[in-house]
Amino acid sequence: MKWRGKRTSGNIQDRRRGGGMGRAGGIGGLGMIVVILVGLFFGVDLTPFLGGGGVGGNQVTTSQSADSGQIDDEAEEFVSVVLRQTEEVWTDIFAASGYQYEEPTLVLFTGATSSACGAAQSAMGPFYCPGDRQVYLDMDFFRVMEQELGAQGDFAKAYVVAHEVGHHVQNLTGLLGEVNQMRRSVSQAESNALSVRVELQADCYSGVWARHVVDDFQLTEEDIRSALDTAARIGDDALQRSMNGVVVPDSFTHGTSEQRQRWFDTGFRTGDEDQCDTFSTNQL
Ligand SMILES: [Zn+2]
Repeated sequence: MKWRGKRTSGNIQDRRRGGGMGRAGGIGGLGMIVVILVGLFFGVDLTPFLGGGGVGGNQVTTSQSADSGQIDDEAEEFVSVVLRQTEEVWTDIFAASGYQYEEPTLVLFTGATSSACGAAQSAMGPFYCPGDRQVYLDMDFFRVMEQELGAQGDFAKAYVVAHEVGHHVQNLTGLLGEVNQMRRSVSQAESNALSVRVELQADCYSGVWARHVVDDFQLTEEDIRSALDTAARIGDDALQRSMNGVVVPDSFTHGTSEQRQRWFDTGFRTGDEDQCDTFSTNQL
């Protein structure tokens, strides 16, 4: 994946202290706990928002200390380049259907920060908040991905950012609001099943995006494999197996490793967001 020196996004909000040095030492001995938390929370990134948080896309502005807007380090540059590429791709896709894409903001933070969906914490893993239309990302998560989950490569990270942007697309199309509405009035198992469809669609959108940036990023087969590999490592069954050895399908909120790979691949092979209809298929 060739990303250096490419155009960056104007929609990064850097809330890290000290110009983005991150936490020295970081996860260290807490590694195991972090893995468990990432498993728990990366596995349920929409659930915390069921109880409110302005689902439906109304803009909530939180006052934050001004970000200089400049790129502080390589990690920020990477995320900014990827975000910029999602903006370009989704702007084109929306325009092709006569719609206007509205760009999300991506908030970089360390430790904890506030969101319209409640307090954001590193251990939650990256997530998208529909209430303020912002993606929240603590870049320590990338380190966890690499060191604890064994997911390697830049494109694996790009896949994660693109997945969260996929939720933003779902918010713009109205799907996210509709589904979250539905989830309030069904059983836990049914609510989880709806969540799985939302998540697999975001994986598919991530694949669609990947197809559109093959040339720009000079993606190789290995890059795509690293995204598929990451999708497999964060499948509900894989996470549950690694956490306590017991796989409980009713509790799945993101789909199995196989499903996550397959929907990413569907998006990537076709490059067509219309093929990402995880709601009308009975072949999830
Ligand atoms: Zn998700």
